[in-house]
Amino acid sequence: MYSGYQNQYRHKNYNYSYRNRRRRNRRFSAFWIVLAIVFVVAILGFGIYILISNSFFGIGSSQASANVDEGDKRLVHTAVNGEKYESKTIKESNYIIHYPVTDIKEIDKSINEQVKFIEKCSEASGAYFTAVDYTVETADSNYLSIVFKSSFYNEEDKMYDADVFTSNYDIKSKCELKSGDIFKPNFYSFISDYVREYFKSNKNTAELAKCEEFEAATSANKLHFEQFSVNDKNCIFYFTNKTLFAKEGNVQSVAVPITKAAAYLNIKIKSAQAGEKKPSVTPLGGDVDPNKPMIALTFDDGPSYENTEKILNVLTKNNARATFFVVGTNAEAYPDILKKEIEAGCQIGNHTAEHLNLSELSDKEVTNAVEKVNNIVKKATGVVPTAVRPPYGAYNKKVQKILNKYKFILWSVDTEDWKDLDAKKTSKKVLSEAYDGAIILMHDIHPSTAEAAETFVPKLIEQGYQLVTVDELLYYKGKDIQGGETYPW
Ligand code: ZN
Repeated sequence: MYSGYQNQYRHKNYNYSYRNRRRRNRRFSAFWIVLAIVFVVAILGFGIYILISNSFFGIGSSQASANVDEGDKRLVHTAVNGEKYESKTIKESNYIIHYPVTDIKEIDKSINEQVKFIEKCSEASGAYFTAVDYTVETADSNYLSIVFKSSFYNEEDKMYDADVFTSNYDIKSKCELKSGDIFKPNFYSFISDYVREYFKSNKNTAELAKCEEFEAATSANKLHFEQFSVNDKNCIFYFTNKTLFAKEGNVQSVAVPITKAAAYLNIKIKSAQAGEKKPSVTPLGGDVDPNKPMIALTFDDGPSYENTEKILNVLTKNNARATFFVVGTNAEAYPDILKKEIEAGCQIGNHTAEHLNLSELSDKEVTNAVEKVNNIVKKATGVVPTAVRPPYGAYNKKVQKILNKYKFILWSVDTEDWKDLDAKKTSKKVLSEAYDGAIILMHDIHPSTAEAAETFVPKLIEQGYQLVTVDELLYYKGKDIQGGETYPW
């Protein structure tokens, strides 16, 4: 985690000895042998010193200890984008802060402010000794991240707790970049899931992650993801043990591959763009606010002439959209309705040709059941469905493999509108079970459902929900699943 700085340091030493070797080859004399011996003795002495000081400072702060000797001397150790970076040490009785100095006035000023803040935190920690070390990460030779780690030691020289502080800069514009400058608003729900999954599936933290504090500290809130660094391979997020698990301990970090974060970045990083995934559907009208709650209404088994049209009218009147999972037989009968669905900004999904259980069909039959509907929809609207809802929600691994071009969209709220066939009951169920991110299952072949829509659509809008398509929901909730994958579950 903290290797970037050390590598740069080693790199400098390598160049130095390379130059020495060349000189030796040209003029080999006793003088050089004596000098070489002195050099070796010096290296050995320095090595022993590092060994001793490491046992004092503990793991992860070797660089700070190596520089104790330097006192206030500056040491040029790396270069980014032609700019020199130096390090400086503040040495006080009970803490040491090691921090970088650049040739960029604006950035140095900001670093100095942060160092002052870290000093205050170190003093307030009540630790017997505090060592602050840092690493530098860069992306595209233009984005600079500085990660400070404070290690707190007790009287037995044991590190018992740690804190982390990061700052990010755009070198060209000499500006500091905050989380909101780098990540799009829809990033936070993605990173929340990613970080939770990481700690819950990690052997060392799975038990700790069961506490209430963990859920609170990793919810999809920008404020929880403000300590981060960016390099050409990863966006790395840092947390203290205390905020995550309400326990003292080392700093925790989660690296997200830059290609996975690409779709959520406001800044352009070359290595990220190579793997960037475009959202499967451009949000229609671009009127979705990712920070406001949203729901995907879904209607299966249609289209039905009167009922579907009634639903489309309600949706249009309320500036709302839905997704229609159409069945081949009905789609073939009502191509005009398919067209109206697309014109209303809705999404058409594939509910197979004859509404058969896909897990009971042969490979060829599965392919045919889906392709037949796609051809009908394409012919009527020019749009090819990319989402499949298997009839009865029935599928298996084999079906997923055959249909690996399609996203499997299930639901999170089942209204059972087909059972009740009662507009009031259906409407009540939708309204009582609605939540941000819900995918609600209904059927547009029933008059009662169409009637219910006239009540619940305006009510949901009134409650502040945005009614979006399934693709939009997946996109804004950071669930841009691949073909063959299912959502939810
Ligand atoms: Zn169905």
